[in-house]
Amino acid sequence: MSKNTKLIHPRDQIIEVIDRIYKRGMTTTSGGNISIIDAQGDIWVTPSAVDKGSLRPSDIICVKGDGTIIGKHKPSSEFPFHKAIYEARPDIKSVIHAHPPALVSFSIVRQIPNTNVISQAKHICGPIGYAEYRVPGSEELGEVIADEFKKGFKAIIMENHGTVLGGSDLTDAFERFEALEFCASTILYGAQIGTPNYLKDGQIEEFEAQAVGVLPEMETTDYPSDEVEKRAEICKIVQRSCQQGLMISSYGTVSMRWRGNDFLITPTGINRWDLEIDDIVQIKDGKREAGKNPSRAAWIHQEIYNLNPDINSIIMTQSPYLMAFGVTNSYLNVRTIPESWIFLQDINTIKYGDHFRKNRNPKLVEDCATALIIENDSVIITGDKLLQTFDYLEVAEFSAKSIVLGNSLGELVPINDEQVEDLRKKFLS
Ligand SMILES: [Zn+2]
Repeated sequence: MSKNTKLIHPRDQIIEVIDRIYKRGMTTTSGGNISIIDAQGDIWVTPSAVDKGSLRPSDIICVKGDGTIIGKHKPSSEFPFHKAIYEARPDIKSVIHAHPPALVSFSIVRQIPNTNVISQAKHICGPIGYAEYRVPGSEELGEVIADEFKKGFKAIIMENHGTVLGGSDLTDAFERFEALEFCASTILYGAQIGTPNYLKDGQIEEFEAQAVGVLPEMETTDYPSDEVEKRAEICKIVQRSCQQGLMISSYGTVSMRWRGNDFLITPTGINRWDLEIDDIVQIKDGKREAGKNPSRAAWIHQEIYNLNPDINSIIMTQSPYLMAFGVTNSYLNVRTIPESWIFLQDINTIKYGDHFRKNRNPKLVEDCATALIIENDSVIITGDKLLQTFDYLEVAEFSAKSIVLGNSLGELVPINDEQVEDLRKKFLS
């Protein structure tokens, strides 16, 4: 989906996003609905009782301002609360409702996830409202939800039901939805291995205040074929990371070394799912491509390339099981199966804030490990080829998942030192 959603028909926007939500396991075939209100005040909404796994643009319903329904199905049974939200909040142009598993866990124990669990979520989600239980599809449900939106919330937990989110457009609503579900998953998984820690508001403000685009701009930029090839490779890996649940719209930086210590890196502030070749930023001789803002983490990538000649690609991201370790201070012991240790060796954690330029932790840039966790922020993975680095990320996330899940069965029995030495001799020397 292009960044200028005004140029994409609401039908097509809805199809694209419902597809992402369904494939990522954030809605069932029957559950959830999405709507967009256009400039004329017509509301485009998903139909009632049509398979979310195979929805087409022609299935989307249009409800006119006067109530006329255009389309071949009935509009979603939750249409009344979508309409009530638009009436209550003219600034909201799109609404997503779904029953994603982690947020439903919060909804059925009647809690609100604390978005201070990761750096950017508080800013993306805003404060979270809470709507009491009412019969699905009823006008009463519409009223309790609209009341919460009237208080200024854009994200709401629906008691014993699910979640509803609004946005200035569908991309904005989706980012909020994905970030909130990510917080919920991270807290749930974290609670299985320890006690989640939350950032203080001041720490989050410090994150938000990090300067972007501080590098000087180039006067002219060349795009040789080897450069263009790398752009495409980065876009593909970002897309794949999003699809595999290893990256969310609002966070994640991927870079590839190009020539010498010059590199290509993803930008700041652009939805990762929608990343296009033209969004990638070239960094050459310490200068950035004119008019583009590289990731806030660009300085980390530059220093890693300067100091580690064997590292040719870097992925910095948030994935839910790795972050479960990152928010609980639990040690992620990858001496689980041979593959994990051979690829990753030992994974350490550095303090939140050590990834800000002013604090510059040498573990992050000089003695660079294959995988390193930054508390309440992200995981950083380094490697040679980008696909290999992506594989390391997958292996790390799978290892973290196995440990979280295994924790309810019994205590992890790692492979012993002697077995590790055997692996070192056979695979790493
Ligand atoms: Zn529902």
